[in-house]
Amino acid sequence: ELRVRFAPSPTGPFHIGGARSALFNWLLARKEGGKLILRIEDTDLERSTRESEENIKAALRWLGIEWDEGIDAGGENGPYRQSERLDLYRQYTDKLLISGQAYYCYCSEEELDAERQEQMNKGETPRYTGRCRNLSEAEREQFAAEGRKPTVRFCVPENQQIIFKDMVRDTVSFESNGVGDFVIVKSDGIPVYNYAVVLDDALMKVTHVIRAEEHLSNTPRQILIYQALGLALPQFGHISLILGKDRTKMSKRHGATSVEQYKKLGYLPEGIVNFLALLGWAPAGEEEIFSREELIEQFSMDRVAKNPAVFDVDKLNHINAHYIKAASPELVTELALPHLQAAGYIGEALTADQKEWLVKVVAELQGYISYAAQITDHIDVFFNDDIEFESEEAHEIMKDADISQVMEAFKSKLAALEPVEPAAVQAILKGITKELKLGGKKVYMPVRIAITGKMHGPELINLIPLIGKERTLARMDCLLA
Ligand code: GLU
Repeated sequence: ELRVRFAPSPTGPFHIGGARSALFNWLLARKEGGKLILRIEDTDLERSTRESEENIKAALRWLGIEWDEGIDAGGENGPYRQSERLDLYRQYTDKLLISGQAYYCYCSEEELDAERQEQMNKGETPRYTGRCRNLSEAEREQFAAEGRKPTVRFCVPENQQIIFKDMVRDTVSFESNGVGDFVIVKSDGIPVYNYAVVLDDALMKVTHVIRAEEHLSNTPRQILIYQALGLALPQFGHISLILGKDRTKMSKRHGATSVEQYKKLGYLPEGIVNFLALLGWAPAGEEEIFSREELIEQFSMDRVAKNPAVFDVDKLNHINAHYIKAASPELVTELALPHLQAAGYIGEALTADQKEWLVKVVAELQGYISYAAQITDHIDVFFNDDIEFESEEAHEIMKDADISQVMEAFKSKLAALEPVEPAAVQAILKGITKELKLGGKKVYMPVRIAITGKMHGPELINLIPLIGKERTLARMDCLLA
């Protein structure tokens, strides 16, 4: 059975790259009928918070990435939070210490810094010299008596080539000589990531470790620990970095980087998932729109690319627009509400009638936007009766000789219309083209401009009922005065 895991560190906002890792693991688990484990890697006690853990879980749930085992889901291989597994780690540390594959190191930060500095001055790559490898019992006692708290270092074997086959990168090899003996347990007794991750993946019977490329350089250290403890290696797959459009590592400079930010802007989970799947995975054909089910069906690690993925916001917007268009106007309205409030279009509380009206307005606009917050760029025409010509071109059109006839005809017919509904408005406009023997454009365009100041926008026949008879007539009088 395939078992994969997502193992975030709850130390801040949930980055879009983390969501992409979670997604790839989830897709693979669903595709292969395997299990996805959610484990919280909170060994950095200072930076880890429960709040961040909650945010990550909420974001995963929002994206529809459900896990089968782990935090909140239970399972036989818990606990699933590293800070609750310290006893387990200690047992393995004891084994390594007894077998001589790890040792206590009493070097102080100052001593280590001085050593590093000296190596760098000589032009060497800094690495721990192994000074504490062979301390005698007496030396150890001496250090302990001085009040030094030891770390535990892993004894890196010499002259070894560490070779593994990465699912994405093929054969990867490292020389053990480049790796100095590294700390696996800090002086406060807390294991470091590279150590805890191995024990967790092994004990949780993880078969495939799929994670971001930035961990590739950690993998040889982890493999050495697997080997020292005689644990079976999982398969590794390191998925490419995510770069901004300028080809530098994705960061805040590139705009929103957390899932939360996209959610707040009114992106839809379907759009984000669809977009993230394409960040590093290439489908077989040209198609870019994929439902969750299609992604599960088509996903495979063979089509995950080695080269960096470029985070193209325009592409995200294009994909999300597809889902916004298909969403219910009620949902898009709900997502747009906070933005409409912030922009001052609506107050805190809406009456049922206002709400009903707003949903209809949003229905007219959702085809023009990529995410809900963008409603505020288009909605002014429904709220603001102070109309101005958007351009010289619009103004020119209104100077045409036939205009006043069209305007008078439209105004008088609209004034008499009851109720003002799209079909009835359509009938009026058609009637005018016939009566005045004018082409459709000569009627629709000036009427649109007279009401909105603009040459393009939502369907005119839907717009007028939503603006209402009185306001429509008032706008026309005002602009034509
Ligand atoms: N906690 C690590 C991180 O957030 C997980 C790395 C891994 O998947 O092994 O980057």
